[in-house]
Amino acid sequence: MIPENEQVVLHKKKVISNKEISPGVFYLTFDKTGDFVAGQTVAVGVDPGIEPRLYSLASGMNDKRMSILYIVVADGTLTPKLAELSGGDELYVSKAFGTFYGSAWPSYWIASGTGIAPYYSMFYSGLTKNKVLIHGGRTLDSFYFADEFKPFFGDNYIRCCSRERGDGVYEGRLTQYLKEKNYLPPNYKYYLCGSSEMVVEARDILINKGIPFQNILAEIYF
Ligand SMILES: Cc1cc2nc3c(=O)[nH]c(=O)nc-3n(C[C@H](O)[C@H](O)[C@H](O)COP(=O)(O)OP(=O)(O)OC[C@H]3O[C@@H](n4cnc5c(N)ncnc54)[C@H](O)[C@@H]3O)c2cc1C
Repeated sequence: MIPENEQVVLHKKKVISNKEISPGVFYLTFDKTGDFVAGQTVAVGVDPGIEPRLYSLASGMNDKRMSILYIVVADGTLTPKLAELSGGDELYVSKAFGTFYGSAWPSYWIASGTGIAPYYSMFYSGLTKNKVLIHGGRTLDSFYFADEFKPFFGDNYIRCCSRERGDGVYEGRLTQYLKEKNYLPPNYKYYLCGSSEMVVEARDILINKGIPFQNILAEIYF
């Protein structure tokens, strides 16, 4: 659902590419609708008859194109149609909006599933100093962009997998990982992005561990 106070105007744009980067998960690139701040979202539609959905931008602020990362929801309205797009097709995209802004402030970037998207944008926008990235997923193939994050962040890139075991991967949900942490710096910002279940649970854990409420920023997908 588009927030009612957003004046969302959709612009017809050309698809550049639409790559399946993991089973059922696509990285869609299209012509830019304007400048944006890493962490912001766009509304995307395929045809004027279907209400557009919101997606975090998953590309750098200075890139010539815009990209989003999405998972195909099996009985979803829009995502199965998005998955059919290929280079040269048209889609409808708004200008960027939203206030989940990335910053140079020392931060924890915490995501479940495709909630990694805004951090990929922040990463490619150069906001990488003093960041810790925690990504939760059910299976080992849910750690999108791991090949890019791992060499850069090293031990500050934590993958939490709830249903499979893997080398260097924490076994369990990311909320369990947070609960087990002895210390979390209170002066850091804590960005939370993904499902409402994860965001609410992680927020409560952070507050219980003494993180001031104003240092917690949240973006809920569903
Ligand atoms: C601010 C904001 C940013 C968002 N950014 C992204 C993004 O970067 N990438 C992304 O994949 N999605 C993102 N979403 C979710 C996206 O807007 C759609 O809800 C989603 O793609 C499903 O659309 P659909 O039309 O296929 O399914 P719909 O027909 O709208 O919904 C079907 C059901 O699918 C469930 N659902 C929605 N998203 C997911 C999901 N990711 N995994 C499992 N179930 C889901 C919902 O509970 C919903 O009831 C964002 C949502 C918001 C509000």
